[in-house]
Amino acid sequence: MSSIDIKLYNSLTRSKTRFEPLDPQNVRMYVCGPTVYDYAHIGNARPVIVFDVLFRLLRRHFGTDHVTYARNITDVDDKINKRANDEYPDIPINKAISEVTSRTEKQFHDDIEQLGVLPPTVEPRATEHIAQMRVMIEQLIANGHAYVGENHVLFDVESMPNYGSLANRSVDEMEAGARVDVAPYKKSPMDFVLWKPSSDKEPGWPSPAGIEVPGRPGWHIECSAMSEEHLGKVFDIHGGGVDLVFPHHENELAQSCCAHGTEKMAQVWMHNGFLQVEGEKMSKSLGNFITINELLDSTSFGDRKWPGEVLRLAMLTTHYRQPIDFTVKALEVAEKTLSNWYNAIGDVDAAAEPTENDDVDQALRDDLNTPAAMAKLHAAFDDLRSNRNADGPARFKAMANQLGFLEGTLSSWSDGLNRGADIDEQAVNKLIIERLAARGEKNWARSDEIRDRLSNMGVQLKDGRDPNTGESITTWEIKR
Ligand code: AMP
Ligand code: ZN
Repeated sequence: MSSIDIKLYNSLTRSKTRFEPLDPQNVRMYVCGPTVYDYAHIGNARPVIVFDVLFRLLRRHFGTDHVTYARNITDVDDKINKRANDEYPDIPINKAISEVTSRTEKQFHDDIEQLGVLPPTVEPRATEHIAQMRVMIEQLIANGHAYVGENHVLFDVESMPNYGSLANRSVDEMEAGARVDVAPYKKSPMDFVLWKPSSDKEPGWPSPAGIEVPGRPGWHIECSAMSEEHLGKVFDIHGGGVDLVFPHHENELAQSCCAHGTEKMAQVWMHNGFLQVEGEKMSKSLGNFITINELLDSTSFGDRKWPGEVLRLAMLTTHYRQPIDFTVKALEVAEKTLSNWYNAIGDVDAAAEPTENDDVDQALRDDLNTPAAMAKLHAAFDDLRSNRNADGPARFKAMANQLGFLEGTLSSWSDGLNRGADIDEQAVNKLIIERLAARGEKNWARSDEIRDRLSNMGVQLKDGRDPNTGESITTWEIKR
């Protein structure tokens, strides 16, 4: 038994309990990763950041080499197939899919690297574990938990008496609440797909269970197979966003326990709350859908680019289980905080050795209480400003590093800000033309509004006359 006191909220038992790894020499965590068909959005960044904080905490307490963190890449999915067929209609489907997934995966890695996220220990891809999925499907059939119907393999929900324990709902309630597909090959509408047949516009592999046509796995089976391969039949922590509780995690749990005859798949199930933007659910149709990449590299949110660390800090200001409202205001506050902190550490590069059981660590050991950890950092910062001890900056840096902050120096932070301050000239010119039109219509309110908006972007307008033609013109410069 380990003596480290870490408490985590377990969605399965709906209680916060002390974390006891099955094997403290190898603490094992699985987090469901992205489906790689398009840019990851800032909601997807939340589990990536939250479980990175947990990964860092576990490594500090159990040892860097004693934690295995697997975060998968879902590269088999009907959204990927559609994208591949739409973008590359003339090349073979497998090649088209690999174009889409390799490009998207690279983009994902580039984006999250800027959020200060450590690479997981392993990053398994679904397409590289098809054989393991087939074996598991055969096991489920042999154990009487799955059946074949019209070239599909289905999980038989009725064969598992405690199905629904994670979602905490009875099968009847789930059936009423979920959009379940009724299909002629299913015994019950709740039964879900383990394997399905593929057309030649879809990727296909040899099927299990004597099915003669090629097929592809359903979504849930991939995580059961990959977690077994990399972490074993039962492991410590399984995480993801709260939207995954049902059906994805409920079904993973059903598959793994029924295939292996185990009581549990993971000891602790953890789910981050959802992220919304400026008070609304993020959606493409509402026009408030923001990718990580847009936030970092374009000026579409708050008219400017944001350093990744700002997004990280804004995200961790809210406790991971709470919903989060993502706003420009929150980013501005986060940036101010980081600027103050970087100014205080200056060019101190090396952090002090972290002390056992400091305040930040204590807050994080209480179910990753990042708001409390931030409060401790704010207090330590006030302390640092009032008592300038020689080792103060290095100690402050070590505290902040536990959350993945202040890994750079004042110079690297300032360089990042200057890059972020690049002004999008096209956007500026467009706004100036809009303002001239507003002035032409004597719409002074609109004209002022645009001037203020440009001012927020760091642009100073100058209204004047062309010396040759006498026409009124507007020029602009970057405010210093
Ligand atoms: P997906 O690619 O949709 O499977 O999502 C990847 C991860 O992002 C999963 O853990 C989801 O639960 C999580 N996720 C998706 N949307 C949001 C959101 N708006 N807020 C928080 N987490 C999200
Ligand atoms: Zn999963």
